Amino acid sequence: MDLERTILRKVGEAIGRFRMIRDGDRVAVGVSGGKDSLTLLEALLLLQKRAPIHFSVSAFTIEQGKFLASIQPVGAYLLGRGIDWTCVEDGPSLNLLNEQPRHGCDICSRFRRRAVYEIARKLEANVIAFGHTADDFCESFLRNAMFTGRTSALPAVTWSRKKEFRLIRPLVYVTEDLTRAFSASLGAPVIPCGCSQKTGTVRRTLRDMLAEIEREHPFLKETMLSAMGNIEPGRLLDTRYLDLDGNSEESGFLSDENRLITVKSA
Ligand code: SF4
Repeated sequence: MDLERTILRKVGEAIGRFRMIRDGDRVAVGVSGGKDSLTLLEALLLLQKRAPIHFSVSAFTIEQGKFLASIQPVGAYLLGRGIDWTCVEDGPSLNLLNEQPRHGCDICSRFRRRAVYEIARKLEANVIAFGHTADDFCESFLRNAMFTGRTSALPAVTWSRKKEFRLIRPLVYVTEDLTRAFSASLGAPVIPCGCSQKTGTVRRTLRDMLAEIEREHPFLKETMLSAMGNIEPGRLLDTRYLDLDGNSEESGFLSDENRLITVKSA
């Protein structure tokens, strides 16, 4: 398999399907020091050269005190390749780590979001790209269904409040076996986040469960991603989308705007 071509095809598919990047965009890529964001950055730089539209790419890192080693080798690697990289130590996150070392993801990600928007403003970016992969989408889909009572995953594209930034996840179709192999082929330094080493977490349990099923069903994640893009609301339990009065000629459901959509009965 041509790794680069496969990744570019999948990233290109995501960008096209969800209109992630548009002419004139200034894209800031969040580099976490891991294999996924490095793959994302490389893929966007390669696509930038081939795309029929013009967009710029820069990279940034937020230091929240979670890296297991200095992030500087990643910076040196990026700067050595002529990639515009900015690193910011986020004071409030570092204070949080000192004061509440066992804090949860909700507060950590809230602090990070504020820092990301600040740096994106300084970079004059209008798009922020994150390295969440197909694995993250599948885990999020299961976690929400199993532990939060919602049928949802991650947004491939969304907007910050007041539409200041378009937030995109171009690796939605790229699995982590690909990002692992691709980042290794680049020879890029990978600095793990301490959280990735934690055991006994829901995330770890879901990862192990998916890996177990994948032994017999290697296209499990691709199928799950297809499911996320192929919803049959008439076979779910959300009454906002159900035709409870039988107004439809066939088994049907109502969309958000109460527009009747018909679906074939099985
Ligand atoms: S996994 Fe770690 S770095 Fe990520 S949001 Fe949770 S606490 Fe923060």
